[in-house]
Amino acid sequence: MTTPPFGSFFLPGPTEVRRPVLEAMLQPMIAHRGRAFEALFARVQAGLQHVFRTTRPMFVSTSSATGLMEAAVRCAPPGPVLSIVNGAFAERFAHIVRMTGRDGDVLTVPAGEGVQPAALEERLRARSYAAVTVVHSETSTGALTDVRAVSDLAHRYGAACLVDSVTGVGGAPLEFDAWKLDFALTGSQKALAMPPGLAFGVASEAYMASAARAEGRGVYFDLVEFERAALRNQTPNTPAISLLYAADAQLADIVARGLEPRWAEHRAMAERTWQWVAECGERLGIAMGVLAPEGQRSPTVTAITLPTAVAAALPAAVAARGYVIGGGYGAAKATTVRIGHMGDHTVATLEGCLAACEAALVEIAG
Ligand SMILES: *Cc1c(COP(=O)(O)O)cnc(C)c1O
Repeated sequence: MTTPPFGSFFLPGPTEVRRPVLEAMLQPMIAHRGRAFEALFARVQAGLQHVFRTTRPMFVSTSSATGLMEAAVRCAPPGPVLSIVNGAFAERFAHIVRMTGRDGDVLTVPAGEGVQPAALEERLRARSYAAVTVVHSETSTGALTDVRAVSDLAHRYGAACLVDSVTGVGGAPLEFDAWKLDFALTGSQKALAMPPGLAFGVASEAYMASAARAEGRGVYFDLVEFERAALRNQTPNTPAISLLYAADAQLADIVARGLEPRWAEHRAMAERTWQWVAECGERLGIAMGVLAPEGQRSPTVTAITLPTAVAAALPAAVAARGYVIGGGYGAAKATTVRIGHMGDHTVATLEGCLAACEAALVEIAG
């Protein structure tokens, strides 16, 4: 089996995983109720606290990120939930609210944008909500929402703020403690650049106090059990030990290199992508643009609008040049492609991808 050199895989999840992180998974199995496991979990927990900017116990779930989205809703304080929906993943949060039998309302925001504070305040004033769900970086559109502002507003009206930061944490600034968020989650396979299969989350003390009284929490996603176990450097059930080895290796690297430089590299990759979109459109005479308006763009993923026929043909033409980018997703599926400039990519690896995209565009539409 040969692994291609790092720097060719730009899906907005899963993202490219460096070889040392993959190799970490070759370590032997250990008893998950033993000392060695507790030491492993303690290191992973400390690394996660670093990237979430928190001192709270961390949830490590053997599931994809959606599992912790469901947990966030199941264990949320009783009462109606307002979901801010500005794309396909935000809609997933609203769907979970409905499917877990909660009383849910939706605040629809134009796709590609973040919520306007005035629109949110109007809804919070009209009805008393127990919680608000919001997506930090909407991976289907590349929109970034100011979740601190959403959380501040929610708190003013007595609602908890539940944040899907799946393509945020590790790539876009998020300060769990300083911003006083109630719940935040991510998946292993996005900006943290680990293999898929784990979800990571954290909850505030106030959220956990009400979770302990929440009915219908279920079993597998009961955060009260997650917290109880995490305080002993344990997991409620058999953990995915191999994936935790990968998380351990990757978190050590992220902490050693520093979180702020990582945020800056993501910001630089995003800006380079936006600049390339503008310049390439001009050079080739193609109608292309960035879906999210300026000032509301995610540093980790860009959805690029293109004529439908071009959007349909581009990912395969790019693949023929040795690079992987994502097609459109959700409502913008037919009219966009997406570049995931996140994880361990750098502006240098991104240049290769953008050059491949431009060569492919010349072939398709030039
Ligand atoms: C990928 C993603 C999810 C879902 O993650 P899974 O790991 O596939 O469950 C949820 N929200 C956002 C914003 C995502 O990017």
